[in-house]
Amino acid sequence: MNIFECKKLSIGYPEKVVCKDINFAVDKGDFVCIVGENGSGKSTLLKTILGLNKPLSGKVIFDKDFNRKLIGFLPQQTELQKDFPATVKEIVMSGFVGRMGWRPFYSSQEKDKADCVLKELGVYEHSSKSFKELSGGQQQRVLLARALCATDEMLFLDEPTNNLDGRSIKQFYNLISKLNRDNNITICMVTHDLERVIGNATKIVYMKDNIKFVGTKKDFLESEYAKNFGVEQEEIIVINNKGEE
Ligand code: ADP
Repeated sequence: MNIFECKKLSIGYPEKVVCKDINFAVDKGDFVCIVGENGSGKSTLLKTILGLNKPLSGKVIFDKDFNRKLIGFLPQQTELQKDFPATVKEIVMSGFVGRMGWRPFYSSQEKDKADCVLKELGVYEHSSKSFKELSGGQQQRVLLARALCATDEMLFLDEPTNNLDGRSIKQFYNLISKLNRDNNITICMVTHDLERVIGNATKIVYMKDNIKFVGTKKDFLESEYAKNFGVEQEEIIVINNKGEE
């Protein structure tokens, strides 16, 4: 069943159409990779689906039982965020704010869930540290934990491994693949590292000038666009359910 579908969607800004006539659907459990050149509209597409930007025309239609306010979002990291003056636990708990309504305090279930997610992502021991003391890789895992507190269903990630070193990039992508496989969390991710994640992807959205390709991984690999990314079927690495290659 579709969680959402983009129908004849045009995205952009009042003075600029970025991309026209986008049509694709995302199903429960999908791992969608959005790839393409800088400025092609990948972030604008994510923000439009999230409801942060208005469509210029067309629609994003969500399943009636799905609340798009409960999508966990990991936006691109900014320099400002790195020095954010709060503890790891405070940042992770703030992921629940969208679900709290008028309730002023976190519930004990929310506190337990935050601990559980911090443990799952391997950053529990840093809970009471200041966010700015952590390495780039640890900071991204904390922000992922925050996004997971906002959702049980679906994560949107915008270039989540920018500014990470090779080892942290690999660990981070392993975590995302594990969340998709073991926790059945639907993933929509903008990435420049298609060759590292395509093994676990189900659908590819490739954007250039206007949208160029939307389809399954199989169709993408058979298309002319796959060559631009240096991905061939035999090179694909699939992460197993223990997060190992
Ligand atoms: P990508 O994520 O693929 O790098 P973006 O979605 O960030 O691309 O940007 C697509 C285009 O929209 C670019 O030409 C960019 O300059 C423009 N753009 C991005 N944000 C805004 C904005 N707030 N107002 C006007 N134009 C914008």
